[in-house]
Amino acid sequence: MAKIGINIATGSLQKNEMIVGIDLGTTNSLVAIIHPDTGKPVVLKEHDGMSLVPSVVHFGDKGVVTVGTEAKKYLVTEPQHTIFSVKRLMGKSYNDVREHTGFFSYKIIDDNTESLVKIQAGENFYSPVELSSFILKELKTRAEHILKTPVTKAVITVPAYFNDAQRQATRDAGKLAGLDVLRIVNEPTAASLAYGLGLSREETKTIAVYDLGGGTFDISLLRINQGIFEVLSTNGDTYLGGDDFDRAIVNHWAAQTGLSAEELAMHKRLSQELRLLAEEAKICLSREESFSGQAGGETLTLTRGELETLISPLVQKTIFSCSQALSDAGLTAEAIDEVVMVGGSTRVPLVKQEVSRFFGKAVHDELNPDEVVALGAAVQADVLAGNNKDVLLLDITPLSLGIETMGGLMDVLLPRNSKVPAKAGRQYTTQKDGQSGIRIAVYQGERDLVKDNRKLAEFNLSGIPAMPAGLPKVEVSFLVNADGILTVRAKELRSGIEQSIEVKPQYGLTDAEVEKMLLDSITHAREDIQVRALVEAQTEAGQLMDTTRNFIQKNAAFLTPAEMEETEKAIAALQALTASGTKDEIQGGIERLNELSRPYAERVMDQAISQAMKGKNIMEP
Ligand code: ADP
Ligand code: MG
Repeated sequence: MAKIGINIATGSLQKNEMIVGIDLGTTNSLVAIIHPDTGKPVVLKEHDGMSLVPSVVHFGDKGVVTVGTEAKKYLVTEPQHTIFSVKRLMGKSYNDVREHTGFFSYKIIDDNTESLVKIQAGENFYSPVELSSFILKELKTRAEHILKTPVTKAVITVPAYFNDAQRQATRDAGKLAGLDVLRIVNEPTAASLAYGLGLSREETKTIAVYDLGGGTFDISLLRINQGIFEVLSTNGDTYLGGDDFDRAIVNHWAAQTGLSAEELAMHKRLSQELRLLAEEAKICLSREESFSGQAGGETLTLTRGELETLISPLVQKTIFSCSQALSDAGLTAEAIDEVVMVGGSTRVPLVKQEVSRFFGKAVHDELNPDEVVALGAAVQADVLAGNNKDVLLLDITPLSLGIETMGGLMDVLLPRNSKVPAKAGRQYTTQKDGQSGIRIAVYQGERDLVKDNRKLAEFNLSGIPAMPAGLPKVEVSFLVNADGILTVRAKELRSGIEQSIEVKPQYGLTDAEVEKMLLDSITHAREDIQVRALVEAQTEAGQLMDTTRNFIQKNAAFLTPAEMEETEKAIAALQALTASGTKDEIQGGIERLNELSRPYAERVMDQAISQAMKGKNIMEP
């Protein structure tokens, strides 16, 4: 990995590097930097004063790719060749998105439901990573044009609920665009940073970040403590945003002018014209009290009051998510110290008013809500550049990470909520004599049995030289870097052989799944402890039977035939218990076999000692 010149511990990097902060949004993307003169974050603007680049990619004739405002114009005329909302597809398989395919006007390939999605545009197929890289490349070019210097390093933001696969996909998109992605930062964390929250080490605060964009809604509750941002809970709706406000207006106007839904669907041009006018009306009504405009030869009007009636149910839905997030975090509204507004749709006065009412305090809306994430990313970039030495920004792992041990048990190496970057290691050994390989299966989750957790990866450490069981020392170490990406390494210490992998899960967990896994771990805690105890007893019994069998085979000479038979019987009894007995019954069987074999072991030991003594005698003439 090319992380040249950056020291994670100190966060320092060679000077004079311009590191940009990028908000790679579902609807709009943009770039910000720390202004070299003022030391304050600013968004980069073209001559036209536009900072937002619509996250839209159009594929034209002869392979011409356009991104942004130009591409957005093709949404109506060439929907099959115009890709929007690609962020929704990052790190997803077809199975993950199948129920939403109607939402996309372009073709999502469904040949293999398990693997990551592909998008067809004309003759070509693109992955979401490639499509995002087109947007990032456009942002990079724009930034270089404005700054008149090469831009190769960036911090990119992602939603707090993005899992490893989605983060990794975002990082890969950056790499494809020619960017060295120094850090993936959570959007709510960035928004808080833009407001200077969490920048002082002593500060402990609980923050609600309310993000209503074009197509998605996220509420995140964060706790900042000594420069560490902890995500307490997230909630939201991945299909609710400003676009739904526009749709509500279109439907209102259609009803007014006597247009049916079928007619609207038939007249693609008219419906697009109405949609654009609806967005214009909505934006206008964030400032003015009434709006009037033309579409399809009709004059259409809307007042702020009418708009509020139309969107009120949608706003209430977001408020409901806020109360869910609070209850998931075990907090009440009073516990929230600051409320940060993010996303273009929070410019709607009704939204501000309802959020402020719900949390019982004034909200932060001093900065442009569609720019705050990028501004915060620039602050983070500055910290990484080593220009802000007082700050140490860290995130945490959302779920525990561990490996499978005997009997399918989960052995946690890094508990949930570990601060990243994080490192942990533990020693394991072989189970059988001469065992030459060991399988390392990596899991994520809170349950005691790996089968209830999510498998991230698996690999074999092979080529261990033949040794008796228990002798090899296999050290397994986990390293989670600052982006939350895990590297697992296994090394047999006696022989020095080693293996390592970077964990890139094939398809990810949704936020709901993460939530469910956490919830399950609580509901099943009792049952899990019992199962774990049983599996441990079974494992112990298995090992004892193996050693005892080995022992009587090697030392048959010291045992009478009756003793041999008795031992075989005890082993068989323990075998039966292991298969169907309770934990206590198995423990009983272990005790009995131990009792029985202990005197033999002592006898063999005595023999060995007297042999050794005899040997000594011979040595001394
Ligand atoms: P995302 O995070 O999804 O990429 P943004 O934060 O840029 O998106 O938000 C885009 C949404 O904000 C669009 O639905 C747009 O219509 C809406 N929006 C932008 N400005 C305003 C405004 N002044 N009033 C109401 N909505 C607005
Ligand atoms: Mg956004």
